[in-house]
Amino acid sequence: MSLANDNEFVYAACEGCSKTLRFGDKVFHYAEGIMVCEPCAPTWAEANQGFKRDAFENPDNWRDFKVRLRRHLANGGTLGDKCVVIL
Ligand SMILES: [Zn+2]
Repeated sequence: MSLANDNEFVYAACEGCSKTLRFGDKVFHYAEGIMVCEPCAPTWAEANQGFKRDAFENPDNWRDFKVRLRRHLANGGTLGDKCVVIL
């Protein structure tokens, strides 16, 4: 992750396509501070598989993810939606 100029509300660059990420953009956080933009983000279903796979090494992340997923579905979201948060 390359941190850019905070004064211009630029936060980082997408790890997938190098697009500049600004506060207010929708992003997906991978572990170790890696972020990707919405088009590069996995869906909830894909993220679910990833967190599940790493659940043994990162049980906290897996637990947090399940809480977020439950909330997403409760709010009418689907597993096919992009798993993003507002930066
Ligand atoms: Zn991207």
